[in-house]
Amino acid sequence: MGWPYIFIRNDDVWTMDRPFRFFFQQASKRSIPVVYAVIPGKMEPGLVRFLCRAKERTPKLLDIVQHGWVHANHSAVAGKKYEFGISRSLKAQREDIRLGQKKMRQAFGKLFTPAFVPPYHGYDERTFRVLHEEGFQIFSAGRRSFQKEKRFIEMPAQVPFSRYDQSQRSVHSARDILETLARRIYRRPLSGVLMHHVDFATPALRRELTRFFDCIKALEIREGWRVLLFSEYLRVGNGIGKLE
Ligand SMILES: [Zn+2]
Repeated sequence: MGWPYIFIRNDDVWTMDRPFRFFFQQASKRSIPVVYAVIPGKMEPGLVRFLCRAKERTPKLLDIVQHGWVHANHSAVAGKKYEFGISRSLKAQREDIRLGQKKMRQAFGKLFTPAFVPPYHGYDERTFRVLHEEGFQIFSAGRRSFQKEKRFIEMPAQVPFSRYDQSQRSVHSARDILETLARRIYRRPLSGVLMHHVDFATPALRRELTRFFDCIKALEIREGWRVLLFSEYLRVGNGIGKLE
């Protein structure tokens, strides 16, 4: 096996608020690449300008990908949320995904990476059909999907930093996440960490974030871990082996 690869996906990006700026600064000052999943129907002009500038200056430090349309919940079932899923017709899903992609392309042009992150990790076979029609190349949910045909490269973010304790949302400790990654890394060539900048709302939680980034940096230097972007994966080709 080659190097252990990980990717970091940060979701629910749409405004330049303090938690987002803090997260972005901490990753970028350590040169840690992050995939930013942007909500097209909510994103603000200031955020678009900021991400365009960042991607132009440091293309190897961030990807800009599509996170649904407006991140609405269309599920009628308690305890299950999705923007795309069983209650949404093919037509409705197509309209939303298309509109989202159009806005992403208008805003980011060539700086956009054709990857889709379904809000709440909800989707069905119709979602895949539309994503295929629209030319998406990467699909990133929380685990491997049940695609009937293999139409996308799957980049599941299987290690969530967020923690849900009886509807209370918090984060795992950096140490827990690193232990999980270290355990997985011998079984899987690629592990994805799912983060939400909004979670790091207090000084103690922000310390967990910086601790995590510091450790990732140290693992890169000392253990040869590599933090990957989706665009890098697309550029080099399918097959992590080719990246070495
Ligand atoms: Zn989300």
